[in-house]
Amino acid sequence: MPTSTSARLAGQFALVTGASSGIGAAVAVALGAHGAAVAVNYGHDADGANATVKTITDAGGTAFAVQADVSKEDQVQAMFQQAIERLGGLHIVVSNAGIQVDAALVDMTLEQWQKVIDVNLTGQFLCVREAARTFIKRGMQPDVSKALGKIICMSSVHEVIPWAGHVNYATSKGGIMQLMKSSAQELAPHKIRVNSIGPGAIKTHINTAAWDTPEAEASLLKLIPYARVGEPDDIGQLAAWLASDEADYITGQTIFMDGGMTLYPGFAAGG
Ligand code: NAD
Repeated sequence: MPTSTSARLAGQFALVTGASSGIGAAVAVALGAHGAAVAVNYGHDADGANATVKTITDAGGTAFAVQADVSKEDQVQAMFQQAIERLGGLHIVVSNAGIQVDAALVDMTLEQWQKVIDVNLTGQFLCVREAARTFIKRGMQPDVSKALGKIICMSSVHEVIPWAGHVNYATSKGGIMQLMKSSAQELAPHKIRVNSIGPGAIKTHINTAAWDTPEAEASLLKLIPYARVGEPDDIGQLAAWLASDEADYITGQTIFMDGGMTLYPGFAAGG
């Protein structure tokens, strides 16, 4: 967890979805450590969300938990309303919630396909749309940030790397790329920045089986030139910087944070 007390995001209000565990929790904690007050969204895991809130408040920050299923329009709208009422507005939205429901293509049910698209892609659309509406309605606050608002979508290396056995997940992340870029193009004149973070392998619940035994980790490391599996706080610190005015000229980009996973490591020895 971060120890920085820099006030890079002082006076800003943030909402992070899926912040009861993993990357979302680390992003919420990092934003809090950098001075933002944070609405910590969770789907079902209230204990996890409360733990994230406690980490932020124990460090002197401001945070509260807010329940919503990001795939449900009415719940997303109610979540934004609650965050705005509790915090007084929003400047940063990190759309992070995501799931995997894996199956071979030939075995994948429509339900397995739809569930992942609903949470990972429709959930992102609902949050990006609501964030833009919220920022535009509030108007510019030049003393708080150079941008009207900042949106960060949690994508994946699988927005560009195909993934057999995970066609629903990889499709959702490929979709996020165009959701993010098209939204960034449309919202730039409003001075809203929209970007994605594309994590590689990060140690969280979503992929425990890929790193929790020495054999699994050794196999995973063959895909990572930098030779370590990522930690949630790697992503948290990037999100805090990307949301700050130090990144004010960045919009419409996916920043891969993957220890080189997108460098086609299979070609390192000549292919
Ligand atoms: P995680 O399982 O710890 O976190 C996912 C979070 O999303 C959980 O808190 C979960 O409760 C929440 N969530 C799921 N469905 C929800 C819903 N309908 N409404 C609200 N919240 C919901 O896993 P993670 O690795 O921290 O995943 C976070 C994001 O990072 C996901 O979008 C995932 O695709 C992405 N990602 C993770 C990795 C990795 O290696 N861990 C790599 C690339 C991308």
